[in-house]
Amino acid sequence: MIDVINLLPDNIANQIAAGEVIQRPASAVKELLENAIDANATAIQLFLNDAGKMLIQVIDNGKGMSETDARMSFERHATSKIKNIDDLFHIRTMGFRGEALASIAAVAQVELKTKRAEDELGTFIEIDNSIVRKQEACSCAVGTNICMKNLFFSVPARRNFLKSNAAEMRHIVDEFIHVALAFPNIFFSLTNNGQQVFYLEAGNYKQRFIQLLGHQYQTKLVPVKEATDYLDINGFVGKPDAAKKTRGDQYFFVNNRFIKSAYLNHAVTSAFDALLPKDSFPVYALYIDLDPEQVDINVHPTKQEIKFEDEKIVYAFVQAAVKHALAQFSISPSIDFSLNADIMQTEAVSQPFTQEKKETISASDLYKKFSQKNQAHLIEPNERSELKHWKDFYEDKLTDESSQLTNDRLQTATFLYADHNYQLPIVNCQLISAYIIATVNNNFLLIHQQHAHERILFERYRKTMQSNQAVTQQTLFPAMLELSPQDAALLHELLPDLHLLGYKIETFGKDSFIIQGTPADVLQGNEKSCIELLIEQFKHFSNELKFNKRDKLIHCVARQHAIKAGQVLGNQEMNILVKELFECKMPSVTPNGNAVFVEFNDEQLMKMFGR
Ligand code: ADP
Ligand code: MG
Repeated sequence: MIDVINLLPDNIANQIAAGEVIQRPASAVKELLENAIDANATAIQLFLNDAGKMLIQVIDNGKGMSETDARMSFERHATSKIKNIDDLFHIRTMGFRGEALASIAAVAQVELKTKRAEDELGTFIEIDNSIVRKQEACSCAVGTNICMKNLFFSVPARRNFLKSNAAEMRHIVDEFIHVALAFPNIFFSLTNNGQQVFYLEAGNYKQRFIQLLGHQYQTKLVPVKEATDYLDINGFVGKPDAAKKTRGDQYFFVNNRFIKSAYLNHAVTSAFDALLPKDSFPVYALYIDLDPEQVDINVHPTKQEIKFEDEKIVYAFVQAAVKHALAQFSISPSIDFSLNADIMQTEAVSQPFTQEKKETISASDLYKKFSQKNQAHLIEPNERSELKHWKDFYEDKLTDESSQLTNDRLQTATFLYADHNYQLPIVNCQLISAYIIATVNNNFLLIHQQHAHERILFERYRKTMQSNQAVTQQTLFPAMLELSPQDAALLHELLPDLHLLGYKIETFGKDSFIIQGTPADVLQGNEKSCIELLIEQFKHFSNELKFNKRDKLIHCVARQHAIKAGQVLGNQEMNILVKELFECKMPSVTPNGNAVFVEFNDEQLMKMFGR
């Protein structure tokens, strides 16, 4: 027998490793921006061609590299940031895994120019597919200038996975915003295909937020500022009237690192309690600083998820801090951000907190308050089920609650309609303002009114789009829509299809739009929230692979315009609804596969009654 195990050559090993770190242009952008930050740059410029697919270039004025370091930096596990495993728990830099440059060089053509202040000449290096093509001395400015071209040129399978330029650009802008929000004291610019997208002078946190997300926030931010022995929280939350229909502008940073945390998001949202308008999401940028020993940032290759030593305590602090900020705000609604820097600390949050006092705190009032069963956000130590509550809350506000009417209940009834010639059922009555009962022959149908309407509108809108004959109603007062750059990019992408549906939306400067007209069935005055909701739903659906982009949009619009459970319907409305339903091609299911109606026949009913 011959032996079968090979050691993979470095360039292949690097390509495989790159899969974790560099998924798309945006991941490379994040890594390169973070390297510039770690090099103490005060000005960082980002240039892109074709949303980073052709070129990503980052120029910084940081400390640069020596000739040897420049060469070393492309080796896998080459890092100047940690030396041993203990260092991992004292990390103050963005990078530490020493993988980014190696990964980038494995999947792109890279050119690096770098110079330290103390050196007369800098170093130029050209690498592609992990192979050094050229290395020579060069004259260049202090700092680092790195170009990566033709991302995934050597891995066509991955190149094919990239989305449209607009979609990749959205991802890049997201990453850029995260980094720029975390470091307002650094100048940043972003230029794509020669067009400047951002130019951000150094400033404070609030200035940076407004530069990035829009002037509409100028008077709408409430400061959050609490300091304790255990952690500090700074930043701001939007006043309730700044809340949005989309979940866009919500940012958490832990030790300057942007993180995603549904759990902490719940802490903020629950602090708003009844203050928020229905179906809206609070805006916030919150900066948590704590001893690096209290967090593990090495649980995820791109470090967007972290693990707190004690998550429940962080939750409690975040929630208390936001509540306190809001309480201050409602006492004096005209409070001005800049005057309000030294808010009194809440009793709860200002309790001294050290590692040794952990037990004491679990017995404290604050902790108890957050762990009581009758609290909306139940937190029980040592119990898995604690996760359920906030997950439900976070994950799917948009999902129609009644779509749960699925398998188990359906098993007791059958879809006789599945391949029938439909006969028009006769409407009998509406039940709890959500269902319609109709009879056909000796059977009766329990029709879910919202699902029925969703199906009808889905098929109707699809036809409208195909036939290019949408009917638009002019809005009486054209509504102005200001969006975050990410949402604006998305809306741009959707505009052609929205026009086909009857929306008339015009761009108006950067990231703003004017809604001139809507499909005939949108209520006047609702245009703005309609579009906001649409964007949110579209994002929510964007992982649904079974739909193409256009169907996704149609589905969102249909869902949004459908009559909802709770709406009382007159006889005529019910009759029309049922008639239109059974004129559909697929009346029995909603576009995403939930039942529209359940049919009961005599036999089954008798069985149920034990006869
Ligand atoms: P990490 O950031 O995890 O250390 P990278 O692969 O991103 O790993 O970078 C490797 C090393 O190259 C860094 O540790 C740093 O010493 C050096 N380096 C990378 N980018 C820059 C830069 N823009 N300026 C100065 N040094 C850099
Ligand atoms: Mg790095």
